[in-house]
Order: sequence, then structure tokens, then C-alpha cells
Amino acid sequence: MNNSLYENCNLCPRMCGVNRFEKLGFCRESSELKIACATLHFGEEPPITVLGGSGTIFVTGCNLRCVFCQNYQISQKGIGKNLSTDEFADLCLKLQSEGAENVNIVTGSHHIPVIAEGLQKSKDKGLKIPVCWNSSAYETIEALELLKGLVDIWLPDMKTLNPMISDEVFKAKDYPKVAKKAIRWMMENSPLKFETVATKNDKDSLKRHGGSEIEKMTSGVIIRHLVLPGRLDDTRLVLDWLKNHADGKACISLMNQYTPVEVSEKDFSAEEIAIRDKALSSFQHRLINKDEFKIIRSMIEEYDFEYLFYQELTSDTDWLPDFNKFQPFSNELSKTIWFWNGGR
Ligand code: SF4
Repeated sequence: MNNSLYENCNLCPRMCGVNRFEKLGFCRESSELKIACATLHFGEEPPITVLGGSGTIFVTGCNLRCVFCQNYQISQKGIGKNLSTDEFADLCLKLQSEGAENVNIVTGSHHIPVIAEGLQKSKDKGLKIPVCWNSSAYETIEALELLKGLVDIWLPDMKTLNPMISDEVFKAKDYPKVAKKAIRWMMENSPLKFETVATKNDKDSLKRHGGSEIEKMTSGVIIRHLVLPGRLDDTRLVLDWLKNHADGKACISLMNQYTPVEVSEKDFSAEEIAIRDKALSSFQHRLINKDEFKIIRSMIEEYDFEYLFYQELTSDTDWLPDFNKFQPFSNELSKTIWFWNGGR
């Protein structure tokens, strides 16, 4: 690995310039790769979940640190275990041997150099399944270039195109500009490719998938947008951009699952909670309601994207993870393959 990338860290648009062998930057992670857990995940979009589940590897730390993050225990509170690049490579292979359809690296933007090295080692040792890069899109092109040839499928968020919201919610006024550029680069580098893995004759597989053919993504981009309650005009801004720049070139995934995550003074100081509450007041910190969902449905019809996934409205909050538990998600949603403290 090229240590200089961490000695004066400008890996992401935060451009902290710190020496991560000695000091922490905005992402609060050193040069050591830290992982919280690895699971077979059955709640991702159908072409990456397919039948065996997506092999998610949750990386500790984050360069965005959204105030509403459902994974705050790992993105902001540091839960995880340091892994060498050899151990990371073996973890990818373990997911493959457990039947994962792909390796899905979640929020690794602040660790791109070590992850790239680990992926190369894993491929050298026999990793064959596609690799997905699951990120906020707050990434520089220079950093993404380090993943070229190692990643097949990109799962970027497009959180907002409103700089006022990106400034309030994750202190990154430049997020809209950065995310548009990163997503354009991803689409240029990974055209959509699918293969059919189950047909109408494959009865057992189809029971779980509603009787239609299953397409497995082998290359491409799935752009995710989480609708923020009370900010449907911002969702329209995002859909406008996606219609003009991504329709037919990427899958769009519209997420309606915004769920208020409550934090206590055990996890955050009173000062941090006050800052968080102020940021959360820039939208409505609640579930999407029925009237909003009607508007979302009408936008879906109006924009008529070639490839679109969206979530039905639900008040279910069981899916919220707890990374202090060996099984952070519900049993239905995932199966843990590796856990940071090893225990059950
Ligand atoms: S990766 Fe972390 S330390 Fe480096 S620039 Fe980004 S936030 Fe700062």
C-alpha cells in the first residue's frame, strides 16, 4: 500500500490533510482497516440479493457522518475490529464459500487504499463473485480510480442536491457537486449487465421471488435516494437530475424507509445531541406518511424510469440494526458470517 495516501490524508473531499498513523481526521479512523461485521444480506435490491444474499462487509467509520444514520454505532461510535489486508481478503473468500452472490463493501470511502489492496489479494486467491461498492458518493475521482478493475457494481447514494440540507445534515455543502461527478464516473466505468439465474421452471427459487425471472447484476450502478420526510421538493430535484443523466444507464432505487433513530447520552454527549437535534430540524424527523407516499407514487409514474426499485410504505422498524448483537439485523434479513467481537 502507498502509505503517503494516509500520511497526508486527502483521500476524500474533506481534505483533512492529517497523518492517519498519528491523528484522526473527520472520519475518525486511523490507517488500520476496521470492520464491524460480514453478513449474507437479503434486503438489498433484487439483482444483487438474488438467491444467496449479498455478502455485506460493514466498514467502521464514515467520511460523511449523517445525523440520522441508522448505522451510527459503527459509522460514528467506532465499533469494529482491525483486520489486515490478508484477513480482509480471506473474509471476502469466506462470504463466497457461504454462497454470497457478491461481496458488498459498505461505507469504505475513507479506507479505499487498504480495501483495494485486500480486494486484489482476494482476487489473487480465487475471489470470483462480483464486488459491489456501497457508498455515499462523497468521493473523489482520484480515490475511485484506485478501485478501477476491482469493483464491478457501484451502489452510490444520491442523498440530496440541496446544499443547505447537505450542509445541515452532514456538514458538506459541496456534496451535490461531488456526488454528481462521482456517479457520472461510475456510470461511465460500469455499464449495466445482467444474467438470468432462475427461470419460471425453477420452482423453489421462485417461491421467494414472486414467480418472475431473476436477473443477477454483474456490472452496473444502482443509485439510491432516501426520501427525507417533509422534503419532497428535494426528492424531485434528485429525480430530475437522474432522469436527465442516469435513466437507462443505471438502476434507480427510491427508498421510503426513513426511520427516526433515537440516541441517548450514553452514545453522545449533551452537546453532540444538541447539534444533532438542530440538524434534524432541517426536515421532519419521522416516518414517511401516507400522503407523502401518494406523491412519491405519482412521481414514480411521472418520471417513468427504465430501471426502478422502490419500497412500499411500512411502519415496521424491526430492520434497524444493533451492532452490539451478533445478529445485528433480523434473522429474516440477514445471516451473520463474521462479527467484530466473535461472540454470539
Ligand atoms: S478519509 Fe478521513 S481523514 Fe482522510 S480526508 Fe477523508 S475524512 Fe479526512
